[in-house]
Amino acid sequence: MLTSLVQAAYIIAAVLFVMSLAGLSKHETARAGNAFGIVGMVIALVATITAALRNSSINGFETAALIVIAMAIGGSIGVWRARRVEMTGMPELVAILHSFVGLAAVIVGFNSHLSSAELTGSLENIHEVEVFLGVFIGAVTFTGSIIAFLKLSARIKSTPLMLPKRHLLNLLIVLASAALLVVYVLTGSIWPLLAMTVLALLFGLHLVASIGGGDMPVVVSMLNSYSGWAAAAAGFMLGNDLLIITGALVGSSGAILSYIMCKAMNRSFISVIAGGFGTDGQLSGDAKDYGEHRETNAADVADMLKEAHSVIIAPGYGMAVAQAQYPVADLTRKLRERGVRVRFAIHPVAGRLPGHMNVLLAEAKVPYDVVEELDEINDDFPDTDVVLVIGANDTVNPAAIDEPGSPIAGMPVLEVWKAHEVVVFKRSMATGYAGVQNPLFFKDNSVMLFGDAKDRVEDIIKAL
Ligand code: NDP
Repeated sequence: MLTSLVQAAYIIAAVLFVMSLAGLSKHETARAGNAFGIVGMVIALVATITAALRNSSINGFETAALIVIAMAIGGSIGVWRARRVEMTGMPELVAILHSFVGLAAVIVGFNSHLSSAELTGSLENIHEVEVFLGVFIGAVTFTGSIIAFLKLSARIKSTPLMLPKRHLLNLLIVLASAALLVVYVLTGSIWPLLAMTVLALLFGLHLVASIGGGDMPVVVSMLNSYSGWAAAAAGFMLGNDLLIITGALVGSSGAILSYIMCKAMNRSFISVIAGGFGTDGQLSGDAKDYGEHRETNAADVADMLKEAHSVIIAPGYGMAVAQAQYPVADLTRKLRERGVRVRFAIHPVAGRLPGHMNVLLAEAKVPYDVVEELDEINDDFPDTDVVLVIGANDTVNPAAIDEPGSPIAGMPVLEVWKAHEVVVFKRSMATGYAGVQNPLFFKDNSVMLFGDAKDRVEDIIKAL
């Protein structure tokens, strides 16, 4: 009876998780999506703890108490971190959380190996394959996510590690791991499992280290997908259906997001998941001389905006750093009141998180109907009077189109330079995340407005 109730609770939780994902895919339904996810997780936890309490083959009370204590410790750390983290620090937080899922799958795998003595015959073999794959995926996710964390938090450089024969190295690790799987299933010994774990840890490290700065957004969503598969593998090892379903949902939605981002950035999906396979090892753009840039001030930009009929704002990571979304929303309101057509151009990898700009603009209550995606708005720049580039750099870099040797070559960008006038808000002439100089800053129709983006937008509002 209890088992059926727990299974029913798991099914309801799984349906709520699917509804949560569906809700999160649109601005308007995102809050409801979050609520479905929370309710699903509460049902899943209550069912799991109740099942542990009533399990007569283990000390139910002790197990349930351990779960609750572990949850209290983990939950407190999670709440503490989540409350302190800045929006700009979210990607590295997500990356380090993925590494925990990977580590958990490795630990569950070894625990499963050590406690599976009662299985025999083909059941034992199936279990061994589950353990081996779970540990492999978990170990790759663990070290890969740690490298992603270090790169995203700028603790190590984002330039790709280009070891000689790196693709052969990756291939050899995969083949050696396959051979170790055969030995493991034949002998049941822990040694091939341990040897593969070391190889998989190195594999994860190398896979992410060899991916360049411009491709990091795809890596974040790819590691998200790996962490889902690691959780699903843990579900198989623990015989927990809900963990299998939840892991598969995270794994497949992460894979779909990676695919969409690869398409948006004109990158090969296979090339990115294989650790930069197919790239020719470019490390940085040439230090070219693009000429002189011109500077402007807030009063002149205000005059420019007074004359304009159409304005497009291209926000980027700098808007998030400066927390400029509130004055930007204010400026938008003021210009719209004057009858100016104002829209936002959102690049799929602007900021440091998929959807980063959309979240900030929604937070500042910018209406959804003036926020447009790259492919919806890119043809409209030639008919636009003024473009305000607020803290964006790589995502508006014409080198992606004009310079085939550039590390960001081929990535679609917002073609802001086609507008009549462009104002670039930033603090210096420094490069963006990919470390590539931006010829936009030196174009005849571009002017630089130096300083913190929030301060400069507030100055413009005053001058209007
Ligand atoms: P970039 O990171 O290319 O550039 C941001 C610019 O903002 C910098 O040039 C910086 O110049 C400026 N800036 C920083 N702080 C401020 C401030 N307080 N006020 C004004 N300007 C400021 O931004 P983009 O959004 O254009 O591009 C995103 C990059 O991040 C891409 O390369 C993308 O691949 C990568 N990425 C994206 C992820 C995602 O999921 N979206 C995840 C990981 C990486 P200065 O210092 O001179 O002020």
